[in-house]
Amino acid sequence: MIPDKHPRYHSLVTREKLAQCARSGIVSLEGLTAHGRGEAFDYLIGERTTESAHIAARIAAAMLISARHPVISVNGNTAALAAQQIASLQKASGAIVEVNLFHRTEKRVQQIEELLRETGSDVFSGEAERLLPLSHDRAWCRRKGMYSADVVLVPLEDGDRCEALVRMGKTVIAIDLNPLSRTARSATLTIVDELTRALPGITSACKEISEPECRQLTESVDNHYLLSEAIREITLRLCHAMD
Ligand code: ATP
Ligand code: MG
Repeated sequence: MIPDKHPRYHSLVTREKLAQCARSGIVSLEGLTAHGRGEAFDYLIGERTTESAHIAARIAAAMLISARHPVISVNGNTAALAAQQIASLQKASGAIVEVNLFHRTEKRVQQIEELLRETGSDVFSGEAERLLPLSHDRAWCRRKGMYSADVVLVPLEDGDRCEALVRMGKTVIAIDLNPLSRTARSATLTIVDELTRALPGITSACKEISEPECRQLTESVDNHYLLSEAIREITLRLCHAMD
């Protein structure tokens, strides 16, 4: 039992949740280490949504609601941390929710799909094929799901797959706390924020944005600027820490 007065209460509860999901098979052991890298970067940005991440979340919302065929790609960590928030974003954006795993087994796919359904998502399942130009198991996806998507939201994505989706001509929105990762650098748009803070931000923006604002936001995407702003925020914090 984690004492709720513990200064790192939220982080400890999150770790416990991920450990439980690793025991049940939803999260892979590699997923636990990926979370550790995320936590380190969250410390550096001050565990808050920065101004640039807020702007990025609004642009992401505009991209999703104006898409022809938007898809939210869900992996084990995303399902463990944010299943309910994925359901809310699906309702607000009208996107397809599809499971895509790096460490893929049929059993894990089904477990994650079940968790998503229990928490309110309408999951796009069915026959997957090796359709993405990648050698590993993340090549698997559904022809009428991610393969046909024009806009894909990939929370906690691996660089390889993000690059492959961009090469296929898709608009790729990443959520990644590490502004230096290949994912962050190759995505069309990166929200440098923690997943459970970023998703509700996109959902509320989906409900608020007017049509003219939507057009204006999708025309103003500058990922390089947004990543530079995230790095600037981290640098400022490090400089203050040395004062
Ligand atoms: P890349 O392959 O893109 O160069 P990587 O190998 O560091 O990056 P992966 O292990 O493939 O990254 O994916 C994990 C990424 O997700 C990390 O960059 C980490 O910072 C980020 N991450 C982990 N947990 C969270 C979270 N809760 N919210 C946002 N980002 C997270
Ligand atoms: Mg990687």
